[in-house]
Amino acid sequence: MKKIGVLVQQGAFVEHIAVLRRLEVEAFPVRLAGELEGLDGIIIPGGESSSIGKLIQEYELVEPVRRLAEQGFPIMGTCAGMILLARRASGLNPEPLGVMDIDVRRNAFGRQVDSFETDLDIPAIGEPPFPAVFIRAPYIERAGDGVEILAQLPHGIGVAARQGSMVALAFHPELTNDLRLHSYFLDIVCGER
Ligand code: GLN
Repeated sequence: MKKIGVLVQQGAFVEHIAVLRRLEVEAFPVRLAGELEGLDGIIIPGGESSSIGKLIQEYELVEPVRRLAEQGFPIMGTCAGMILLARRASGLNPEPLGVMDIDVRRNAFGRQVDSFETDLDIPAIGEPPFPAVFIRAPYIERAGDGVEILAQLPHGIGVAARQGSMVALAFHPELTNDLRLHSYFLDIVCGER
């Protein structure tokens, strides 16, 4: 059985752990670097990227996670997790991990549509469209050549991307009953995608 860790410093980690268990994967909370050992993949949840960023510094997870990313280790980041994976993130202190070749704009949808749900076409997972929940979400402003954009809102706004074994989602798949994006990530973990 695959072992997936979820960073539990802050944010919506409980929901990710619940989804992983529904998919019959072993899910482990990760607080300390030692807990990364023996895992097959990790998820960085949504929440507040500046808080998670500070806490993973304090818990000395920044370098270990960067090293894993460089080795091609599967990592999925959702919302704040996507922000942390990015090379650049507007107004983020501390700096993001910088392991994915994307620049993201935080809180990109302005106040009025701070939070919304929309049916998103994601060709990689097929039909039907995915019920994507955006909560003070970022979007992708720039993506490098090695990055595959998995989903866009109207006007070509990138909100999901893959680079190697890393997946970044601007929204919260763990808050829906649709498990296809977690399954997609698990397929990457299993080397089936
Ligand atoms: N607005 C948050 C940030 O900038 C992200 C919101 C979320 O993860 N739902 O970190």
